[in-house]
Amino acid sequence: MDTSYLQSGWSLSDLFPAYDSAEVKDALAEVEQSVTDFETKRLLLTAEITPKTFLDMIFQLEHISHIGNRLSAYGELWFASDTQNQDAQNMVARIDQFIAGIQNRTLFFSLWWKELEDANAERLMASSGDYRYWLEVMRHFKPHTLTEPEEKVINIKNTTGVKAMQTLYDTLTNRYVFKLEVNGEVNELTRGELMVYARQHDPDLRARAYQELYRVYGADSNILGQMYQNLVRDWSNEQVELRHFANPIAVRNLRNDIPDDVINTLLDVSVRNAPLFQRFFHLKARWLGIERLRRYDIYAPVAKSNKTYPFSTAVQMTIDSFQGFEPGLVELVQRVFTTNHLDSQVRKGKDSGAFCASVTPDLPPWVLVNYQGRPDDVATLAHELGHAVHAMLAANHNLFTWHACLPLAETASTFAEMLLIERLLEQESDAAVRRDMLFRQVDASYATIMRQVFFALFERQAHDLVQSGASVEDLAKAYMLNLQTQFGEAVELSDEFRWEWVSIPHIYQVPFYVYAYAFGQLLVLSLYKQYKAEGEVFKPRYLKILSAGGSAAPARILAEAGIDIHSADFWQGGFDVIRHLVEQLEAIPELAMPTHAVAQSSGISG
Ligand SMILES: [Zn+2]
Repeated sequence: MDTSYLQSGWSLSDLFPAYDSAEVKDALAEVEQSVTDFETKRLLLTAEITPKTFLDMIFQLEHISHIGNRLSAYGELWFASDTQNQDAQNMVARIDQFIAGIQNRTLFFSLWWKELEDANAERLMASSGDYRYWLEVMRHFKPHTLTEPEEKVINIKNTTGVKAMQTLYDTLTNRYVFKLEVNGEVNELTRGELMVYARQHDPDLRARAYQELYRVYGADSNILGQMYQNLVRDWSNEQVELRHFANPIAVRNLRNDIPDDVINTLLDVSVRNAPLFQRFFHLKARWLGIERLRRYDIYAPVAKSNKTYPFSTAVQMTIDSFQGFEPGLVELVQRVFTTNHLDSQVRKGKDSGAFCASVTPDLPPWVLVNYQGRPDDVATLAHELGHAVHAMLAANHNLFTWHACLPLAETASTFAEMLLIERLLEQESDAAVRRDMLFRQVDASYATIMRQVFFALFERQAHDLVQSGASVEDLAKAYMLNLQTQFGEAVELSDEFRWEWVSIPHIYQVPFYVYAYAFGQLLVLSLYKQYKAEGEVFKPRYLKILSAGGSAAPARILAEAGIDIHSADFWQGGFDVIRHLVEQLEAIPELAMPTHAVAQSSGISG
């Protein structure tokens, strides 16, 4: 096998040859014409419509979306690879506007579909094949939908009500300036720039970064807290009172298409596992050479190893880890390389993150990473290629059902990352590299699982408290108790963290969104545990989950693979994997600890 993989940019020629090409013009014209034609079929949408006519309209809608996706992807991928390019910026804006117009003109289809009475909807869904789940999901909200005039009033009042409040929150908090003295000089920073210091070696700087963060948010806590109270009241007034949801979190559960009891179980099992991360924080304190971790030190780095891997080695390790799991997947990974859909270079002006963009089922996804050779970068490469494999395995579905829904979206990526890390840990004799990989895993699990679970628990409690007339101060007290439950004796909390909740945009913008992170991550860890226990028999079940894409409800896709997400044991399995990682870290002898870590303890007492 040729192992000489070179770092390079990607080619977008599978989408379009160039932004000013005849092909782009033709695509825009074709969408325009197809939409105009689709609009003439509006009168066909009656209760008596035949399944054939109905399906033909869906095909046409899919065709429009197919071209629309290619156009959007071209602009967005081009922009990601060259964010300073004016032409790319213009194309993104131009296509966005074009697509928004198209969506408005085709909206009548989904509106009609949602209003159709059950018997006829069932008749049409019965013969809609792979489109069925997409059609079903649109109708989930029918029992919670009000009359048209009522919906209109809510929409109109929302623009100056809840949406205006959310915009104000953003406007207010985005202009905050944070001051931090670094090397004798006072810097004025954005929040993003400030929080870089929470992940640095200097313990004093870490503390001052957090103190400054909550000094600024705390100064506005009265206003930000009132905004939150109003958003919570609005949520309850509309969703519980008017739309008759059983409780505030049930709205989000229906949007994720996950049964309420599953989320309750997930949250309960997570709380029972809080001591596991507390154990990890004790360990981390030891590695940092301090007696007890402060909240400021949660993301403190343990000394990093300097080990780097050439890009070609990283690709080969990734391919080998797929090969070791299921040789059939290697061809899919290689397709990303042979089609030149990977941008792995580090370049000025390029998006500094990592992502996988699946555009249409008939094209291998595009993957962007900034490969710099660290063990982290190898894991990221495996993660994003895992996303690509997921999309290609589900490519037999239609455009509307091939994307895995939010709770399943990280399944293949995180699993691929786990496989890579396992392989690396097996082969790596350098203790420092092994330690880095393990810390990376547990740090990430903390941030995506435990932290998010406790946010969701706070939201649930805050929605109740606000309904019973709690003040902003009451909410801050409840938040501190929430943190104390999460950290126990393992982490020292300082008082300014009482204002952390007013600094979390998610709880203002998308109530109860946060638990989806925990769901996705725990699901994968639990699947991984099953794989370790069952070996070969696990593989077809796992591949079936991936191949299902977004063609059925998450609970059903998983049930068909023999997984019961209603069961507490299943979720516990995810925490068992984390416990195993923590045990491996605990087993690394103290002698292996970097000497300078101990020196860091100077200046910290308690
Ligand atoms: Zn991902």
